[in-house]
Amino acid sequence: MTGASRGIGAATARALDRAGGRVVLVARSQADLSGVAKELDHDPIVVAADLGGQGVPEAVAREALDRAGHIDIQVNNAAAAARLPTTETDAGIIDHLLAVNVRAPLLLISCLVPSMAERGGGCIINISSVSALTGTPRRAAYAASKGALDAATRSLAIELGPSGIRVNSVAPGVVDTDMWAKNKSIPGVVESIESQTPLRRWAKPEDIADVIVFLASDAARFITGETVAVDGGLGRTLDLYGGPV
Ligand code: NDP
Repeated sequence: MTGASRGIGAATARALDRAGGRVVLVARSQADLSGVAKELDHDPIVVAADLGGQGVPEAVAREALDRAGHIDIQVNNAAAAARLPTTETDAGIIDHLLAVNVRAPLLLISCLVPSMAERGGGCIINISSVSALTGTPRRAAYAASKGALDAATRSLAIELGPSGIRVNSVAPGVVDTDMWAKNKSIPGVVESIESQTPLRRWAKPEDIADVIVFLASDAARFITGETVAVDGGLGRTLDLYGGPV
């Protein structure tokens, strides 16, 4: 479980633990990961690492396999985000977004898949975004990284299905986490998002975590190659009148 130190990742770690799973918690902050680990009941494993670094995802996968013995469910949730006009998006920002949001998940997957296949199957869930489903302003590089992850999800589903490995992605809408902490204070943002979301509220991390646990469960045994939007309807609707018709 990457990005497990807060937000959607921490909520998902708690939900997987409640379901009886032993969770490997990965993020950069050892202190935050240890805080989440303290809440879990099934002997969690903490691996503090910056997944954007060269060679780091491979080292994290090796450590996770060494310490846990095997990994049945891999959730690629850690991400870097940037909300910037394209004229201010330089090569360093693009490289960082792609390293954390695309390269790291792909490398983790390639390192973990052989042991899943040996055990007869497994499940990979990539956390995408509403920004990959519909245009969102000042997020071209971030949206491109999430679109790439969804494309990889479909490709991997074909490649890994015969080995019993399901690969899906989850596309959250707007979730009340640290990722939004800064932008939430822009006047009107909270209300604007609420009014454009058919279910008229922001998501809570648990709204996303529950769907991740469903996709990881046997109840989702015939679902692969899918991107599941968990966005209160935000990504597929256009509220032309901005309120009651
Ligand atoms: P948060 O910013 O709350 O958490 C991000 C997590 O990723 C933290 O645990 C952070 O821990 C970890 N992380 C970030 N960079 C790295 C890195 N280089 N190496 C290792 N870990 C890293 O984000 P959310 O919970 O909101 O988002 C989770 C996922 O959901 C992301 O993939 C995001 O793109 C997606 N999403 C979120 C939406 C939202 O509205 N919040 C909307 C759509 C998609 P640390 O800082 O300790 O490394």
